[in-house]
Amino acid sequence: MGPASAKKDVLLAMIRAGVNICRLNFSHGKAQDHKAVIDTIREINEQYKTNVGILADLQGPKIRIGLVKDGGIHLVNGTRINITTHECIGSEDGIYITYETFPQDVQPDEIILLDDGKIQMRVIETNRQDTVVCEVVHGGILTSRKGVNLPNTKVSIPSLTEEDLENLKYALEWDVDWIGLSFVRTGQDILDLKRIISESGKAAKVIAKVEKPEAIDNIDAIIAATDGVMVARGDLGVEMPLEEVPLLQKMIARKCREASKPVIVATQMLESMITTPRPTRAEVNDVANSVLDGADAVMLSGETSVGEFPVIVIETMAKIVRNVEELGYPFNMDKSSKKGPTSPDYLIDAVCGSAVYLAEHTNAAGIVSMTSSGYTAFEISSYRPKAGTYIFTANKHLLNALSLLWGVKTFYYDKLESTDQTISDVNNILKDANLVQAGDVVINTAAIPIRNQGKTNMLKVAIIE
Ligand code: PGA
Ligand code: MN
Repeated sequence: MGPASAKKDVLLAMIRAGVNICRLNFSHGKAQDHKAVIDTIREINEQYKTNVGILADLQGPKIRIGLVKDGGIHLVNGTRINITTHECIGSEDGIYITYETFPQDVQPDEIILLDDGKIQMRVIETNRQDTVVCEVVHGGILTSRKGVNLPNTKVSIPSLTEEDLENLKYALEWDVDWIGLSFVRTGQDILDLKRIISESGKAAKVIAKVEKPEAIDNIDAIIAATDGVMVARGDLGVEMPLEEVPLLQKMIARKCREASKPVIVATQMLESMITTPRPTRAEVNDVANSVLDGADAVMLSGETSVGEFPVIVIETMAKIVRNVEELGYPFNMDKSSKKGPTSPDYLIDAVCGSAVYLAEHTNAAGIVSMTSSGYTAFEISSYRPKAGTYIFTANKHLLNALSLLWGVKTFYYDKLESTDQTISDVNNILKDANLVQAGDVVINTAAIPIRNQGKTNMLKVAIIE
């Protein structure tokens, strides 16, 4: 989201064209601007009965340079420049960095990348107090507030900065569905964030943005701790060798599906459409291949936040995704679950896997589940069933949050009469919504006895009347 997509009529057109979830990037704009967008999304959800989710994306330990003089600084290869922790207007004499302990944390020979890696410098020496002398390796014009990436440096900034904590407070107050954390380094970063969320009594789920080499080293622990992952290719491609990103994307997507956690592929997916109404062929391939890699979601940034064609971008992306899923998608995928018989989820996972198997072998039109925690939705979606995944829940927090998951459609349902009644009700709701027709097979999952609201433990093969 951004200025190009914040107006209600534009956003509504985007949602009608296929948007499931909106990201609010807290690296930009004021908190109150985000609140206005949240209100618009909720107005649309209310008015048009949509379930668009909201992802509040926290900046994390992102480092930037300060303001620089008008016209920018011309950095020439081979010349030296000071980076200082004293706030100043940057010039050829020195640049301010928003990272207090940079001179203590950095070592000679480490690489400094500026402006998404377009400018590269090398550390010559540090006085370990306030100044670091650097040599320009790949120069260019450096303008204000550009991002800094330090791929080799052990950055000591906490995973949640003061600013993040402030923004998090707002995001939780506004009951967003997902909180994204940038530059995650360890599983503990995610656990720390989750503790704050649960202490605030909120239900927001967490997305770990994987964009640092340390996150790749700790990927298993991060996936275990988080509710979902973003392959944040923008910064990942600066912090890691570019050529490694394609295989990292496949590795992360595979591990996420195995762990039944949704994965977002992000950045530059249709970049050329910021200024052109038609994408490059390479971009079309990238979107399609990301779907084939197992992405739950493909994300747009500049294309829809500041681009000229926000609605055409969504229409284009939706067409690419739909075409892959209609003609070339490997549905009903198997999973090598790492959970053994001693895991508390062993039985429920087996029931969900069996639901997908049954759906495949009965050519079912839908897998229809009740959930209060959402667990069943995450689990069934991870098998990428060809049948529609229809999730009924009395937990209002889940209705929009689950929109991030591959293939999941949610409905509100809160009656606990009897299992027979519930199954008949939910199947009728689907029939009324034209999602299933008389004669279709559906697989119903449930937890019996229904009043206990326990874990899914039952499957039924039903034929719609
Ligand atoms: P950003 O994250 O757009 O918030 O930087 C995504 C990325 O780095 O790819
Ligand atoms: Mn990023």
